[in-house]
Amino acid sequence: MRKVAKFGGSSLASADQFKKVGEIIHQDSTRIFVIPSAPGRRFTGDRKVTDLLLDAYELAIEGKDFSPVMDRIKARYDEIVEGLELNNLYLDEYFDDICERLATNPQRDFTASRGEYLNGIILAAYLGYEFIDAKEVIYFNEDGMLNPYKTQKVLSRRLEEAERAVIPGFYGLGKDGEVQTFSRGGSDVTGSIVAQACKADIYENWTDVSGFLVADPRIIDNPEPIKFITYRELRELSYMGASVLHEDAIFPVRHCGIPINIRNTNRPQDEGTWIVEATGQKPDYVVTGIAGKKDFNAMVITKSMMNSEIGFGRKVLQALEDNHISFEHMPSGIDTMTVVIHADEFLEKEQKVISAIHRMVSPDSIEIETDLALIAVVGRGMRSTSGTAGKLFSALAEADVNIKMIDQGSSELNIIIGVRNKDFEKSIRAIYKKFVGK
Ligand code: ASP
Repeated sequence: MRKVAKFGGSSLASADQFKKVGEIIHQDSTRIFVIPSAPGRRFTGDRKVTDLLLDAYELAIEGKDFSPVMDRIKARYDEIVEGLELNNLYLDEYFDDICERLATNPQRDFTASRGEYLNGIILAAYLGYEFIDAKEVIYFNEDGMLNPYKTQKVLSRRLEEAERAVIPGFYGLGKDGEVQTFSRGGSDVTGSIVAQACKADIYENWTDVSGFLVADPRIIDNPEPIKFITYRELRELSYMGASVLHEDAIFPVRHCGIPINIRNTNRPQDEGTWIVEATGQKPDYVVTGIAGKKDFNAMVITKSMMNSEIGFGRKVLQALEDNHISFEHMPSGIDTMTVVIHADEFLEKEQKVISAIHRMVSPDSIEIETDLALIAVVGRGMRSTSGTAGKLFSALAEADVNIKMIDQGSSELNIIIGVRNKDFEKSIRAIYKKFVGK
């Protein structure tokens, strides 16, 4: 058994958090490769080290004094090193190097990546693990995307030589020979790539929540945790705003059937959520998760005899494509077609789109409905259960919510409903109560 364990920023935000991580690693000798993030927030209102580094970079390119910010970052690492009693570890030369580069040749990605780099050095020293610099094993292409072939080749060979190692998350080597980072939250991606390269049995992703929750805890008090979720369900929920894991972290492990286990560093006794390709585990509820987003617009296009006009839909979508707008859903009636679009994407281009549609299909009318929210009710259990839609609609009717749109794909993995923005929270509470019942 081999496990890759990635620890997020809040799990490594202070010496006390590092100690919890140390205990977790030492409790299970199969946790052989460890991926740290940079120190995150210790309390509400605190700043992440990555954000502070980016502040220092911004000051540097404006030619301003970045040393107070760098001192603040140094103080955070000093607290960790001293708290862990790593008396032989000196970080001064690393900080001199970062400051020197900021003064002479400031580079955004290099600067941002130092949070993970330094945390990696500290964690390796604390655990007694080898340190492998991610820039020697993770490669990007010229277009800025990961080079998966070269990375897997070099990384898997390097990991074979190492017995136990810490590999900092979030960055690798760009084609120009400089450090390049993934997008924010990218340490999750590093963990997934390492799990793929060492053919891990499990990719553990340690954070500050006990896995995915059935609904957003800002809307539902103490929502139930999700024990098992498939990659496809997760994708639907993440797309609708449920975020625990970086989206790009799914592909490398999914590709080789490695399950992801989301765990809580502050409650290691909790089993967390298992993200898997497929499972025979019966979900506790028909609905695995509920997520949603506000602020969509619906463009309602009406034209009598639309149903017999071949190419109508294509032309409407062409008008969107020409204006680089993607659409979310497209419910239609006999003489109407509705296109649901993100409000912010649509606003500045709406008049151009409307006139393009007029030119292309001469509709009788075009109306715009604003302030729509979309809610996805996701569950692999729906396929084998009848009455889910009925239950969902009665929950909303009982809560006196008017449904503006319904969309159920034939995969029966989810039902998407559109409601007014103002009914969003009320709808989620009603659906949760109906299906989870607590
Ligand atoms: N430290 C980086 C960030 O804050 C990457 C990560 O935490 O995964 O985005």
